[in-house]
Amino acid sequence: MQTRRPVSPASPLAKARRIVVKVGSSLLVDGTTGRLNRAWLETLAADLVRMRRRGQQIILVSSGAIALGRRQLGLPGGALRLEASQAAAAVGQIRLAHAYKEVFEAQGVTVAQVLLTLEDSERRRRYLNARATLNGLLGLGAVPVINENDTVATTEIRYGDNDRLAARVAQMASADCVVLLSDVEGLYTADPNVDANAQFVDRVVRVTAAIEAMAGTARSDFGTGGMATKVAAARIAVSAGAHLCVAAGAHKHPLRRIERGARCTWFVPQGNPRTARKQWIAGSLRPNGAILIDEGALRALRAGKSLLPAGVTGVRGRFDRGDTVSVITPQGREFARGIAAYADGDVTRIMGRKTRELDELLGYRGRDEMIHRDDLVVVADEVATENE
Ligand code: GLU
Repeated sequence: MQTRRPVSPASPLAKARRIVVKVGSSLLVDGTTGRLNRAWLETLAADLVRMRRRGQQIILVSSGAIALGRRQLGLPGGALRLEASQAAAAVGQIRLAHAYKEVFEAQGVTVAQVLLTLEDSERRRRYLNARATLNGLLGLGAVPVINENDTVATTEIRYGDNDRLAARVAQMASADCVVLLSDVEGLYTADPNVDANAQFVDRVVRVTAAIEAMAGTARSDFGTGGMATKVAAARIAVSAGAHLCVAAGAHKHPLRRIERGARCTWFVPQGNPRTARKQWIAGSLRPNGAILIDEGALRALRAGKSLLPAGVTGVRGRFDRGDTVSVITPQGREFARGIAAYADGDVTRIMGRKTRELDELLGYRGRDEMIHRDDLVVVADEVATENE
């Protein structure tokens, strides 16, 4: 019999003010019948209602649209072609939203459907707009239920997994806790199915390259994200000052279970969170391009300086002024991300040149910096950086 533990006041979940809960497809949709697990959803709703009564604000990020829609349309199992998954999402999303409405309204809570595209988090103006919408809904007492707008998402332009979407939403809403509920119990030092010495990891204080390596590429059967996308989500959440928990969610009352101390992996937020703007830059899921730099520029960036055209050796991809780009070291590693002050064509024109030469090369008065220090965030973790 399971021991009954009271809610631990130390649980970040009990203490949080605003919480994002991500629900994976494998929990919501029965793997054999393809039907919604309504009984389970009711217990999740009961947990969330109880948390709201304690004064906590809740945002749900829910998968399951494609899984529900494919059954309705009689589509085959396995990977779907883009058109088929877009169609399945359109059919499944309406069912998903209906289920949330019924289950939550029965407990006196209003839900609000919000469908996001990658651009809504990656473009600064749209990000700020989506943030205002979420704050508005929470202020009115509704529970936003978010999913990717899979019907219009294409292979190139999509989140693809709701783990990173949930982390981006947490950052957007300044949430202080994220819970990723799925069929994965948490992080192990190695794949427990393969390695008998694999140890469970309860707490991660820093998302290093070693932690990312532990996540490997393990995948669950049903959802899109494996442990790797969960660790990527954790990196975004902790740098935004939020705790993130990866937990198995198939049990009834999955959140109450976590509060009572069930096994899960907690990622702990970083000590001094970056400014909101820098968090947004660092959390970018898809930089538009890349700027390659030399050793001198790398030293300058390590010392907290801006990136000047003189230290740039090349560009990759197409980007405009104001787009987010990766900054790549001579060793080919992503060291930082920032907002480019020049489009890729102009970068090519002025790279390697001195500041005083710029006006003549460009034909207009441009910025001295390629990326200003206020628009630049180091993303390489220290361990990896030392070994470079
Ligand atoms: N957005 C997808 C859906 O609703 C799920 C993505 C994921 O599995 O993380 O079906």
